[in-house]
Amino acid sequence: MEIPANPPVVTLEPRQVLRGDFAVLRVDQPLPGEPQLHVGGLSEQPKLFLLDRQPTALIGFPAAAPLGAYPVRLTWDGGEWEGSIEVVYKEFTVDRLEVTEEQEEVYYDPRQAEQWERLYRLRSTSEPEPLWRDVFRPPLDGELRVTTYFGEIRVVNGVETGRHSGMDFGAPTGTPIYAPARGKVILAEEFIVSGRTIVIDHGLNLFTAYYHCEEIHVAPGDWVEAGQRIGLVGSTGFSTGPHLHWTATVGNTPVDPWPLTQGRVADLFTRSKE
Ligand SMILES: [Zn+2]
Repeated sequence: MEIPANPPVVTLEPRQVLRGDFAVLRVDQPLPGEPQLHVGGLSEQPKLFLLDRQPTALIGFPAAAPLGAYPVRLTWDGGEWEGSIEVVYKEFTVDRLEVTEEQEEVYYDPRQAEQWERLYRLRSTSEPEPLWRDVFRPPLDGELRVTTYFGEIRVVNGVETGRHSGMDFGAPTGTPIYAPARGKVILAEEFIVSGRTIVIDHGLNLFTAYYHCEEIHVAPGDWVEAGQRIGLVGSTGFSTGPHLHWTATVGNTPVDPWPLTQGRVADLFTRSKE
C-alpha cells in the first residue's frame, strides 16, 4: 500500500507588509517539476530558490507600491497554492534638498543610465543560498545618526524626483563602513550619482549597497564577512555632506534595510543547514 504524501505546507510571512518591505515564502518539502511563483501587481517578479530542495523566495514591495492585496500563486507539477499579501499604509515624509546648479547637473547626468543598467544586470542573478550567518549588523559602529529614512519622497530644487532608496547615516569622512553580513562583492567602483559605490550579494536575491564612499577597500568577486571593513564614509557623487547611504534590495527592488538589523531573514540561514 502506498503511503499518501503529506500535502505541502506553504508559509508566507508576514501576510501584511508596509510599502517598501518584503515577505518570505517557504515550502516545507520539495515540489515535483519546476515550481513557478507569480505575484500579481509586481513589475519585478520574485525569484524562487531551492533551499534544501524546498522552494523559498523573498518578495519585495516598492516604497511606492499601491496599497491593497497582491495575489500570490505557486504552481508545480500536479498542484498549486494561492494566497495573498496585503500592502498597508506607511507614511513617508518629504525630503527637500536645495543644491547648487553644479550638483544638479551631476544628479541629472545622462551618462549615469549606463551605470544603473549595468548594476541592474548584476542584481539579476544571486547566489542560490543565504550567505549570511546571523542578524545583519548596522554598517557603521556606534550611535547611528539617521539623516534621511528609506522611502522618503525626494524633492530636489522643488522637483519631485522619486523615493529615497535607502537610509542615510551622517558620519564624518573616513568613518569605517562594515559589511553587515557575509556576502560576495558584485560592484566596487565610482558612479556619477552614488559616488564610490559598493554592492554586496548576500544570496537568495538579497543585496546591500553603500554609496558616496571616500574609499573602497574591496573589489568585485571578493567574499566579505560580517564586520569586515569594506570602505570609508565620504561625500562622493551627488551628496551634500559626508554620509553613508545604505540600501537593501530584493533583486532590483529597494526595500527598507533596517528590518534586516532586527532579525528579519536571520532564521533562513539556520533553516538551510537543518
Ligand atoms: Zn541617501
